[in-house]
Amino acid sequence: MSKLCPSAQPGMDRATVLGIVQEDGGRPVVAYLNERLPATPDILALSKPLKPTEVFRIAATCAENKCPHFDGADCRLATRVATMLPAVVDRLPPCTIRKECRWYSQEGEAACKRCPEITTVTYDISPHMREVSGLPVVEEPGSTGVAPPHT
Ligand code: SF4
Repeated sequence: MSKLCPSAQPGMDRATVLGIVQEDGGRPVVAYLNERLPATPDILALSKPLKPTEVFRIAATCAENKCPHFDGADCRLATRVATMLPAVVDRLPPCTIRKECRWYSQEGEAACKRCPEITTVTYDISPHMREVSGLPVVEEPGSTGVAPPHT
């Protein structure tokens, strides 16, 4: 079966709510659900007035070659997350998709120890996080965003 992307968009194949984005000291942190919750329209509507991706971390079938982060073999976003961000937890978060997760299968525990700080959408992003996200780096002094979006 195809791997699951842990930072996906609603409407993608097998879309599942992986966790809820919360705030801890001004930084996002994902609280992982202990069971899989299909990302149905009713569930996604609970995020209003915010976008579903501002409230939920959604996992879905990895789009592979349809995704700009995929190089034909690996997810480069997973590599950047695992190698360019500091670990934010010591232990692996409880996670319902680990056996199928693209990031874990590729980067192992390094991905999981950084995964809780990842949100799928942000409006305030630092140059470093733009680089992690694979976006063009724009110097914006004072920008403090922390979240690499899946595109
Ligand atoms: S915690 Fe690990 S296995 Fe779970 S979604 Fe994140 S990277 Fe994948």
